Amino acid sequence: MKIINAHVHMVEFDKMIRKMGDIQLPGGISVLKDLESTLPLLNIDTLIKQMDDAGIVQSILYAVEAPIVYSSNEYVHMLCSRYPDRLAGVASVNPFAPDALDVLENAVNNLGLRGLKFHPPLQKFYMNDEAVFPVYQKAVELNIPIIFHVGTTPFGSLCRLAHANPLLVDDVAVEFPDLRIMLTHLGTLWHNEAFMVVEKNPNVFIDTAAYLYEIEEILTGNLVDRIGADKIIFGTDYPMPYAGKIHEMKDFVDCIKRINLSDDIKEMIFHKNFETFFSGRTSSTEVRASDLQDKY
Ligand SMILES: [Zn+2]
Repeated sequence: MKIINAHVHMVEFDKMIRKMGDIQLPGGISVLKDLESTLPLLNIDTLIKQMDDAGIVQSILYAVEAPIVYSSNEYVHMLCSRYPDRLAGVASVNPFAPDALDVLENAVNNLGLRGLKFHPPLQKFYMNDEAVFPVYQKAVELNIPIIFHVGTTPFGSLCRLAHANPLLVDDVAVEFPDLRIMLTHLGTLWHNEAFMVVEKNPNVFIDTAAYLYEIEEILTGNLVDRIGADKIIFGTDYPMPYAGKIHEMKDFVDCIKRINLSDDIKEMIFHKNFETFFSGRTSSTEVRASDLQDKY
């Protein structure tokens, strides 16, 4: 079965430390202590080996214009150009930078990046802030999808949860019906609100890059039926540790394979839905009011 990992970070650790500057990491948060374990994984050959071990044909690398998970558009472009048949990249911009639209256009047209990732709590903005709408409009014009981190984060006082509320995405999805949007991590403990937004909006997808026990508990047949089997996308959040364990992409693949869902649905989750999200959805699922009149 073809498998694509839609959620991968190759953090630029040196630049990240420099960019952090005076920012103090909050103490006592276990995931931050585990972050050191990710350092050996921030190596392109290790990434490719993990993909091979897991049977993953392609991974999508995220640039992130934010502390802790920092990665530049140029760095992601450089990595993708080393393995063009195995890697594709997604850009990131500071949504309030005066040159945000130019940076995005350059990332897509000159660096070959094919989407836009935001981490609103680390970038400190509300997703439905109209000041950010020109960036969404530019994404529509460039025909690229947007990925929003939603839900909790392990970054303590560096973030405000209010910036990560999945319900904010409803406004964006309604204002920009032609914008393809993906939420992350099955909502990261904000599950039901995230699922509400996915169920309600034809242009919103969600990825499975959650803790393994969450994936198995949450992704039941009923839930998949309800929000739409065509809306769920496989991802792992490589190289983030989970539950104190070093990241292994294969564990996430095995987890999805174990779930009691049909092979057709697994095929959708593992690659078909991502291909729709990345390249554009046909309008075959649109319902016309005139069609509904016959039914109701
Ligand atoms: Zn992530």
